[in-house]
This record gives sequence, structure tokens and C-alpha cells, in this order.
Amino acid sequence: MMEEIKVEKVDKRKARPADGELSFGRTFTDHMFTMEYDENKGWHDPKVVPYQPLELDPAAACCHYGQTTFEGLKAYRSNNGALLFRPEKNAERFNNTNRRMCIPEMDPEFFVQAIKEAVRVDQDWIPAKEGTSLYIRPFILANEVYLGLKPSSHYKFVIIMSPVAAYYPQGIKPTRIYVETEYVRAVRGGTGSAKTGGNYAGSLKAQSSAADKGYDEVLWLDGVEREYVEEVGAMNVFFKIDGKIVTPELGGSVLPGITRDSVITMLEDWDYDVEVRKISIEDIAQAYKDGRLEEAFGTGTAAIISPIGELNYNGLKMEINDFETGEVASKLYKTLTGIQTGKVDDPYNWTEEIPLD
Ligand SMILES: *Cc1c(COP(=O)(O)O)cnc(C)c1O
Repeated sequence: MMEEIKVEKVDKRKARPADGELSFGRTFTDHMFTMEYDENKGWHDPKVVPYQPLELDPAAACCHYGQTTFEGLKAYRSNNGALLFRPEKNAERFNNTNRRMCIPEMDPEFFVQAIKEAVRVDQDWIPAKEGTSLYIRPFILANEVYLGLKPSSHYKFVIIMSPVAAYYPQGIKPTRIYVETEYVRAVRGGTGSAKTGGNYAGSLKAQSSAADKGYDEVLWLDGVEREYVEEVGAMNVFFKIDGKIVTPELGGSVLPGITRDSVITMLEDWDYDVEVRKISIEDIAQAYKDGRLEEAFGTGTAAIISPIGELNYNGLKMEINDFETGEVASKLYKTLTGIQTGKVDDPYNWTEEIPLD
């Protein structure tokens, strides 16, 4: 049995930005959830407390060796309350990530309960305007005070929440993507399938040089041959070629996205041929030259669906679908966001109600 979650509320609530003035990840709610781990007690002392800086010893392991993990999901305002989208999948992935990073797992049901309790306390912070949501960021950092390299014996689990703007205030819109042929994100056997800080630190260089060239994101190729497509930025990637949908297999280096999994399920339900396999960038370039590359898009919690309007591969500028959002991307976006906000029937039972006061 897990301990009861204690709640200590703020004396004075912060001013909340208007729904129309939100951005991403800069404003945080009044409270946060915290829990500690040590080898004697396991995970203990769960509580919701006023949002505040963490106290960190400069010798804490996370400051040096990057033993940190995180998750990302959203709470959406619905007609009669608030909804989470497949939070048990985040719990499962968090445990997989934690296992990879030698961090003790936690009870997946308690993980979801902690999120629900944190959101309940800050329920006024769930924005209502179309497309907005409350972004939830659970994370763990290793905080044993020791400079030796080993799995920490002490951890802190924290959940912070940030009201975020609609990703596409002007409607869903294609992006320009640079195919990265020098730097790689992950290799088989590495940590690419884990949501751990180092993967993202290591990706900044490629992202910033793509931005210098006027591109929004990079398309990552595999870390060994630099031939097979893996992900786009911090999203999974899909292509429509000859009417079929193709997406890279996970293979240990690709992050197993929950949006990816949902998209595959929906497309199969809609009777598309979905191929989950290795796909080389040369094949994509050839399909483009033959006029068979019909659509490309990324999937992830932040954007849900992000259509790709241009792929630049070694100077070959592939314009996809006349830089317009494709039919499949549009339908997926409408249906998924509809399910997430309770506006569209949820035949998969993917949404979970958050009990509010
Ligand atoms: C989180 C993440 C994704 C998308 O996962 P979702 O569960 O769909 O949000 C894809 N790629 C990377 C690298 C990620 O970190």
C-alpha cells in the first residue's frame, strides 16, 4: 500500500495568465508534487506542496552524470471536467526508462494517482480555450551526495505543471526539416528509447545548426549506417508512400511514443496499410523523385501531429504535398485532439477522467 498524499496549499495563489496569453513551458501552476526515495524506505513521503525551487547539493549525482528521467503528458479540459490521455502508458514507459537508467521503479497506479492529485489541487489552472491544455512534466533526479560514478542511492520524484497555448494558434501547419547526416541522436543498445536528459542535451547541436540554416527541426538517421530514418526532432515520424503508411520500427533506438502507438491503431482501424519497418532515406528520396511520396508528419504529445512540408537531404529539397497539410495528417489531428478533449467518441477508452472538486 502506498502512503496517502499529503497536501500543503499555498497561502496566496499566483496571478494566472489569460488563456490567450499562454506560451509553452514558461508559466507554472501554484503547486507541485514531490516524493523521495532512499534504499531503506523505498519511495516515500508523497506530497503536493507550493511550487518552489529544489534544494540541491552541488555534489548531487544528477549535476554530474545525468542520471535523470522524465515523462510528458497533458490534461485537457472537457465539457464536464478534465481528461488525461492514456496516462497508464506514461507510467509504463517511465518505469522502462527508469529501469534503463538504474532508477528504482514505482507503482504505475500510484504514478497516475499522483498526477491526478496534483491536477486536482491546481484544477483552476487547466486552460479552457480551444487547443490549450495543462502540460504535465513528471521527472526524477538522482540526488545522492557523492562524486563516484554509480547508481544513486537517493532520488527525488517531482511533478510540475504548466498551462500551455495551442500548438497551432493559426491552425495546423507544415514544417521544414533538415535531414541530419553528421550528428546522430541514438544507437541500438544506447538510451534512445528512454526519456533521459542526456539524449536531449546531445541533440541540441544538430537542432541549432538546422535552425541556423532556416529549418524547424532535424530528421534523425540511425546511429550506425546513417541511412535509416529514426525520428523527427523529439517526435516519431510517419510517411505516406503509394497510399501506404510507413513508420520506422522501434529497434531500441527510437523513443516509443504514445501518440505513435495511438496513430498506428487508428490508421489500422481506418483500413490503411501500415508498415512498421526500417525505411532508408534513399528510398524516401526515390519515392519523392517518382512522385510517390504523398505525406510526411511527426507525432508527439506537444504538437500531436506535425506535418512536414519540406525535407532537405544533402541539398535535395523535397517539397511534400505542395507544402500543405495532407489528408491523413488532418484527419488524425482532428480525431486525436477530439478524443483527447472529449469532443469525439473514444472507442478505445483512451481518456481517463480526473476527479475534480
Ligand atoms: C517524448 C518523445 C516522443 C513522443 O512521445 P509521445 O508519447 O507521443 O509524446 C518521440 N520522440 C522522442 C525523442 C521523445 O522524447
